Amino acid sequence: MKPGDARAADRRRMVDEQLVHRGIRDARVLAAMSGLAREMFVPAALAALAYDDRALPVAQGQTISQPWMVARMLELAELEPVHRVLEIGTGTGYQTALLALLAAEVCSVERLPALASAAARRLETLGLPGRLRLHVGDGSLGWREFAPYARVVAAAAAPVVPRALLDQLADGGLLVIPVGGAELQRLEVWRRTGTRFDRAAYGDCSFVPMIGSGAWAEEPPHN
Ligand code: SAH
Repeated sequence: MKPGDARAADRRRMVDEQLVHRGIRDARVLAAMSGLAREMFVPAALAALAYDDRALPVAQGQTISQPWMVARMLELAELEPVHRVLEIGTGTGYQTALLALLAAEVCSVERLPALASAAARRLETLGLPGRLRLHVGDGSLGWREFAPYARVVAAAAAPVVPRALLDQLADGGLLVIPVGGAELQRLEVWRRTGTRFDRAAYGDCSFVPMIGSGAWAEEPPHN
């Protein structure tokens, strides 16, 4: 246990009970999540809940995803240390930090400036191995400047898969994205082979909406 790592036991329990026992097998994902202090990314008042088995509210009406869902997305992304990854929805920066532990380069886009700058401050203090680029903008359009990406991971849900995210995938690349309605979506994985795209679906999930010109035009109606 690192000095001052008061929540190491909570973190170990989270990895065992929520991830390993529920089928997460990717050893690199498990190692990254075992080593990263999630309490750094949640509001101070919720630090005691940082390892709970659920999403938590963060600033600006957004959420930090449930640990299991983060692990599932990272596992489905089949990340390799050489990859350049595009992330849509930096949010708190928790998943961004994990991506920077698992891949060579992370380009992350966040729509809300206040979240992006708070995430940038946190990520700076961590001294992560992967190269990190953060951008404030509409991630439903991808981030053309650094395309193509070996992997694209979207942490916000779209009504249909944004065309730009498929276009910016490298040949052989994978896109992991929640697709569906405002409340409930399916986690989808798209694989690009040349000009062909194959889709697989992996169960239900519930993410905040991706708001932008390639996704929801504004907050979707809640029923
Ligand atoms: N994985 C993040 C959770 C992010 S929640 C974490 O661990 O904290 C989803 C984020 O996507 C929110 O911060 C939201 O503001 C952002 N978002 C929504 N639409 C977006 C868009 N079009 N482009 C970029 N970010 C977007």
